[in-house]
Amino acid sequence: MSSKKERKSKNMFQAPKGTRDILPEEQIYWEKIRQVVQKVAKSYGFERLDTPILEEEGLFIKGTGSSTDIVQKEMYSLKTKGGDRLVLRPEFTPAFIRAYLEDGLSSRPHPLKLYTTGPLFRYERSQKGRYRQHEQANFEIIGENDPVLDAQLIQVFFSIVGGLGLKDIVAQINSIGCRQCRPAYRKKLVNFYNKRKGELCFDCQKRLRQNPLRLLDCKDDRCVLINEETPQTIDNLCLDCHNHFKNVLEYLDELEIPYILNSRLVRGLDYYTKTVFEIWPEEEAGRQSALGGGGRYDNLIKILGGKETSGVGFGLGIDRLVNFIKEKNIKVSSESLPSIFLVQLGELGKKKALKLFEDLRRANIKVASQFSKNTMNAQLKSADKMKVPFALILGQKEALDGTVIIRDMKSGSQETVLWEKVIKELKKRVKK
Ligand code: AMP
Repeated sequence: MSSKKERKSKNMFQAPKGTRDILPEEQIYWEKIRQVVQKVAKSYGFERLDTPILEEEGLFIKGTGSSTDIVQKEMYSLKTKGGDRLVLRPEFTPAFIRAYLEDGLSSRPHPLKLYTTGPLFRYERSQKGRYRQHEQANFEIIGENDPVLDAQLIQVFFSIVGGLGLKDIVAQINSIGCRQCRPAYRKKLVNFYNKRKGELCFDCQKRLRQNPLRLLDCKDDRCVLINEETPQTIDNLCLDCHNHFKNVLEYLDELEIPYILNSRLVRGLDYYTKTVFEIWPEEEAGRQSALGGGGRYDNLIKILGGKETSGVGFGLGIDRLVNFIKEKNIKVSSESLPSIFLVQLGELGKKKALKLFEDLRRANIKVASQFSKNTMNAQLKSADKMKVPFALILGQKEALDGTVIIRDMKSGSQETVLWEKVIKELKKRVKK
């Protein structure tokens, strides 16, 4: 493996900054997470929706919000030869709502439960755990504003992390109000921060004009200190939002989901209303990045041209989850590991083994082989490396006799069986 510097000096190509290859030995984690996501999604009645990676730029400017970090700093925008302005999708929710409105999903029975997995692109400062291409699992429930759905969605998240064997996970939750109560709260915030403008970080001084709620979750030490005294969102909710939030918390209690109220959680996107949440490993809440997060969006569908319709959703960071599973040394077993290695010797043995390989594969026996290696030693070494319990050996003699040798890789004991019986014999042994 050559270093980055060497590759550059030799004019070799590299993956773009902030992107990476997921190597074969890593795939086991990704497959497992996608499997659990799919299983949990189905068990809660979610249907899969896949949307294109490219979308119109305007969708996110209008949906995510023109003053958000995603739109201002992080979108990969491009102009096509035909002059269209497209982006590599930076998040799923606006794309789901675009599809919901475009594909007639709005006329299906509600609430509509949709999910997907796939890559997202954000031009972020790249570092471990933060990539410019990352993958998320995304879940949305569209069509109702009942607080029970907010709680059940958080339960879906917990079912996925639980299904992966992760423990000590906690939800952080807040309510950021609605169109009725947020303007007054926003005003209060602006008044509060204006009095202390000189103490704010540079970014927050700029944000104060456009997106004052974002000041609440600024990580700069100066702003964190000021935020100890900021008026809190939950003290400034209208009755409807207050009751909605109270109900969400009661449902979470009922589900025994551990949560922490976090009055600084705002999630930074324009479309959120009422509930916002993030899911964190308990021991690192506030450090690195959350495993995922989401919230309610009761205005987004109208903003994007539909009827006034509620929605609630979340995104779960798969890269982050993979790193976390590895840090915690959680064993992820692969269902696709081979249980048999087929060793072939001599020209006739190779021919017959080629056919036997197909017979075994069709009989759903997971078989590995190396047809380009010709010595017994080299092939048995590979079998050893793959930790298969059995090897099949098919040489010139066996090919002529219509037999094959089954070798127990642990004990080294061998038995010759007829070709017709080999599948039955293997199935018996592999089961044991
Ligand atoms: P967000 O869409 O920003 O709410 O992110 C949801 C989750 O996706 C986060 O909690 C992270 O786990 C993950 N995530 C977001 N951005 C990135 C990134 N640049 N690289 C890796 N994971 C990310």
